[in-house]
Amino acid sequence: MILVMTRDVTKGEIDHAIKTIESLGLKAHLNAGLERTVISVVGDDPSAASKLENLPGVDRLIPVLPPFKLASRDLHPQDTIIEVGSVRIGAQEIVVMAGPCAVESCEQLSKAAQVLRDCGCKILRGGVFKPRSSPYNFQGLGREGLEIIAAVKREFGLLAVTEATSPQDAELVAQYADIIQIGARNMQNFALLREVAKIKKPVLLKRGMMSTMEELLLCAEYILSSGNRYVILCERGIRTFENYTRYTLDISAVPALKRHSHLPVIVDPSHAAGHWSYVAALSKAAVAAGADGLLIEIHPDPESALCDGKQCLRLNRFVELVGELRRVAQSVGRKM
Ligand code: PEP
Ligand code: MN
Repeated sequence: MILVMTRDVTKGEIDHAIKTIESLGLKAHLNAGLERTVISVVGDDPSAASKLENLPGVDRLIPVLPPFKLASRDLHPQDTIIEVGSVRIGAQEIVVMAGPCAVESCEQLSKAAQVLRDCGCKILRGGVFKPRSSPYNFQGLGREGLEIIAAVKREFGLLAVTEATSPQDAELVAQYADIIQIGARNMQNFALLREVAKIKKPVLLKRGMMSTMEELLLCAEYILSSGNRYVILCERGIRTFENYTRYTLDISAVPALKRHSHLPVIVDPSHAAGHWSYVAALSKAAVAAGADGLLIEIHPDPESALCDGKQCLRLNRFVELVGELRRVAQSVGRKM
C-alpha cells in the first residue's frame, strides 16, 4: 500500500510513520516529491492498513493489492476447479444446476429430477429452508424436505444443492447436500459463513442483491480463510432502479469476478429475471459471457408452485433451453 502524506506533513510525523511501519515488521520506502511525500509500504500484513491510515500526517492510503487475498487471482493465477462427484465446476464444461425454488413433495422433485437426468444435467436444486421476504409465505419443508432430496437424489443418481439459512442448520444441510447454498440475503451472515467453512463441502455463495463484487469476494474470503477452499460465486441480480425485471442481472460481474478471482462463477437467471420468459435469454448471455454454470428454477407445474412460480421454467421449456445452451457453449469454446 502507499501512504500519501498531507501537504504540511512534518519531519517528525514522517519519522513516526516509518517507525510504526517497521514496528509492524514491514518495510517503508520514502519518496519525497515536490508537492507531496509518499511512503510505500512493503510486506504482508492485511491488518496494517487500519493501523496506518489514522497516523498523524497521513492524508490517505492507497491499497495496491485487493483486500481479499485467498480469493484473488493475483495470488492464484490459475482457475480453481471444484470437483463434486463426477462434476467439475470451473472447468471447460458448463454445469447446469436446476430444480424447483422449494421442495414441495417427492412427486414434484422427482418430475424435475427425471428431466434433469434425461438431458444430462447432474445437479438438482431445491430449497427446504426458504428465506422469504414475508413471514406469511411458505417457509420450506425443513428436515422433511431434506429427506425428499435424499430419496430423489438416490433414485435418479443426481447431486444436490440446497440452502442453509442459519449456522444451526448448516451441519444438518451438509448431511444431505453435495453443495451448500448461501443465499443472497445471507451473503454477509458471517457466523453462517464460518460455520459452512468448517464443513469441507463446496459452498455456492450468492451475491447479495445490494452488495458489490468486492463485498462478495470478501465473503468468499471468510470461507477460504477459515479453511474451506471450495467456493463457487453466483451472480443472481442486483437491485437497481429498474422494475420491469425483479432484479438486474449484472452480466458484467461474470468477466469482472473472473478477472479479480480464480473461483468459478455461475449465474442464476431466474431470480434476476423474476419471470420465466426472460430466463432463456439471460442463461445464453451468461454462457456467452464466460459463466461456468447456471442455477435455474424449473417446476412441473409452475402455476401451483408454492414459491417463485412466475420465474420457474416448465420442464419442456427447460429441455429446449439445454439444447440451445449446448450450441452457445460450443460457440464460445465450452462444452455442455
Ligand atoms: C433461491 O435460490 O431459491 C433463492 C432464495 O435465491 P436468492 O438467495 O438469490 O434470492
Ligand atoms: Mn426461488
